[in-house]
Amino acid sequence: MSKVVVLGAGISGHTAAAFLKKKLGKKHEVVVVSPNSYYHWIPSNIWVGIGQMTVDQVRFKLDKIYKKWNIIYKQAKAISIHPEGNSKFERPFVTIEYVTGDQQGQSEQIDYDFLVNATGPKLNFEATEGLGPNGEGHTVSVCSYDHAEHAWKELQKSLQKMEAGEKQTFLVGTGHPLATCQGAAFEYALNIAFEVKKRNLQHLADIVWITNEYELGDFGMGGAFIKRGGYVTPTRVFAESILAEYGIRWIKRAGVNKVEKNLVHYENLAGEFNTQKFDFAMLIPGFAGAGIKGFDKLDKELTDGSLFKPNGFMTVDADYTAKPFEEWRANDWPETYQNPTYDNIFAAGIAFAPPHSMSKPMKTANGNPQFPAPPRTGMPSGVIGKVIALNIARRIKTGDKTIKHKASMSRMAAACIVSAGYGLRHGKAATMTVSPIVQDWEKYPEWGRDINATVGEIGLSGHWIKLLLHYMFMHKAKGYPFWWLLPE
Ligand SMILES: Cc1cc2nc3c(=O)[nH]c(=O)nc-3n(C[C@H](O)[C@H](O)[C@H](O)COP(=O)(O)OP(=O)(O)OC[C@H]3O[C@@H](n4cnc5c(N)ncnc54)[C@H](O)[C@@H]3O)c2cc1C
Repeated sequence: MSKVVVLGAGISGHTAAAFLKKKLGKKHEVVVVSPNSYYHWIPSNIWVGIGQMTVDQVRFKLDKIYKKWNIIYKQAKAISIHPEGNSKFERPFVTIEYVTGDQQGQSEQIDYDFLVNATGPKLNFEATEGLGPNGEGHTVSVCSYDHAEHAWKELQKSLQKMEAGEKQTFLVGTGHPLATCQGAAFEYALNIAFEVKKRNLQHLADIVWITNEYELGDFGMGGAFIKRGGYVTPTRVFAESILAEYGIRWIKRAGVNKVEKNLVHYENLAGEFNTQKFDFAMLIPGFAGAGIKGFDKLDKELTDGSLFKPNGFMTVDADYTAKPFEEWRANDWPETYQNPTYDNIFAAGIAFAPPHSMSKPMKTANGNPQFPAPPRTGMPSGVIGKVIALNIARRIKTGDKTIKHKASMSRMAAACIVSAGYGLRHGKAATMTVSPIVQDWEKYPEWGRDINATVGEIGLSGHWIKLLLHYMFMHKAKGYPFWWLLPE
């Protein structure tokens, strides 16, 4: 019997666990460790944040489904990985700490034959003073369902003030000079504008998009050229025209470095320090790895980058050689997500360390780095989780160590649907497909991507697709009939 431990039950971890169990059956053990008792379809948080969906529409309890699938589930967080075992344990193991019930605070060692790290991002609000919905923070977030629910409560307060005739400034965007996930923030800005318009309150709203992008539409993927209505259009024009249509003004090349009550401080690329007032602000934090540590056989922390990079993301089969932007290549990006030192460890979704950004790295005139970190959206996260599961299952069943299934983001296409307003009759969404996700200037010297497969449109049908995908992905994640036939 082999034992596979999956850390994290988000888009990539849950997908990996589902396919591992399906392929391995009863003969082998699959263990999932995740501190959150819920599976959570994060993309629909945007709709929770504008009151169009409830928290329970975007989440469901994991224990029931894992029981049905014969997966052992531990509601705990992984603290450390010991890939060589130690003086007490001969086998590789993970130390976990329970987060609930009678066992809360207790730790346990779980041995494994294979380990999948799918722990997603740490929402690093602490990296920006005054950012976030907790403690001393002055901004809201839509990164988790409880954050999104809180965002909606705060948004309603602003809407009520406007209904009473008071002007409100809404600030939405990135809350750190190196933040990613611009797409999600962009969606939220559009949805706020849509809700404001629905209430005929535009004259009282100043909606501002603030971003660390050099140009709008960069979205952390270095921007793209898309086919739109038969014309090749840069995503800059696409994004600017959508914001203009929605009455949203923008501040670009802005690295938010401090938030006070109703005031954001930012530095622009020219090195000027500016501020922007707000009544309501939703700003995406910087992301870091989940904070798990690696130890060798002698219990000495692995700080040489063999397991984790300094940002906490896991080392995989990428080319991490430091090289200038001009020398970046599509094949710097990983395809197996296997750790090069420990071939039984894999990292899926946001947990893997990318080789570099996709956007051109820039510094402000004061020398502070300011550019979007690379996004790893839901589709590649799910695909990577599946590919890792198929490779592990194959290796367990055949003993063959060859990696058959590969999924490089520089060869994979991804569809992204940016909600621009909720409603079956009047809703809208911008639909964008990029192929590949990471530009390949050698293969596609003119546009960096396959221009015939990189397309974008905005309209009501996009909203229907986004809504349909919500139900489709929840169906899949819940393991309803034929779930495995649905794409990631
Ligand atoms: C508001 C928002 C909207 C988005 N919209 C879209 C969209 O429309 N389309 C799209 O493609 N992508 C979208 N994304 C991105 C998408 O949500 C992510 O790409 C995806 O969730 C990444 O999957 P993941 O499995 O890597 O991480 P996650 O889904 O974040 O899962 C991480 C898991 O690890 C667990 N975990 C954390 N720490 C530990 C630990 N120490 N030990 C064990 N488990 C741990 C967590 O509880 C969670 O279960 C959006 C993101 C946000 C924030």
